[in-house]
Amino acid sequence: MNNIAVPGKTGIEQGLQLCNNCGHFSVKKDNPLYCPNCESRISQRIHHSLQKTFAFLITATIFIIPANLYPITYFLKNNVLYPDSIFSGILSLIDSGMVSIAIIVFIASIIVPFFKILALAVIALCVHFQHNLSPQKQLWAFKLVEIIGKWSILDLFVISIMVAVFDKGQMLSVYPGFAATSFTIVVLTTLFAAHSFDTRLIWDLTLNHDQSKQ
Ligand SMILES: [Zn+2]
Repeated sequence: MNNIAVPGKTGIEQGLQLCNNCGHFSVKKDNPLYCPNCESRISQRIHHSLQKTFAFLITATIFIIPANLYPITYFLKNNVLYPDSIFSGILSLIDSGMVSIAIIVFIASIIVPFFKILALAVIALCVHFQHNLSPQKQLWAFKLVEIIGKWSILDLFVISIMVAVFDKGQMLSVYPGFAATSFTIVVLTTLFAAHSFDTRLIWDLTLNHDQSKQ
């Protein structure tokens, strides 16, 4: 290794790039495409990071509408289908006296997905429009989305519990509705959106601002 990474300066400034697979850093001009250590593809930033993040976020935004409006489950009782959306399910839980479960479902199924989409959209838009929002705050919000993202499947788990605890009669069948598929798409696309976003873009922005001031 000829170059030694200098702390406080970005890899791009120093002509270096980090391999995400083995953690080895190398000189960009000597190894433009592949990591010299593990020979996997290497680049200074995730390719088309913002475009991928926006594409996944737009998909999530589209599918969150049917996820909340359409029935997530159908209960078949005495040959009659009873549709339940997320919201009507929450109201039924409150009516049944299960307020604590209703609060969990409300947070996991409504608050969390909206928060994830909104937070990621704000961060990605700040990078896109080069808005000088505090990088620390953006990174903090992103970390929060990542932590919540790990628990995203909880939303679906809660719905399956909701299905299990519902008792509307002895002869009861439960079928998933269109909203269940939409909700799964929202969970997956928000996970992919966070995964596609290269947080180093936030810091590139401060670099660009510093250079424009000089
Ligand atoms: Zn490597």
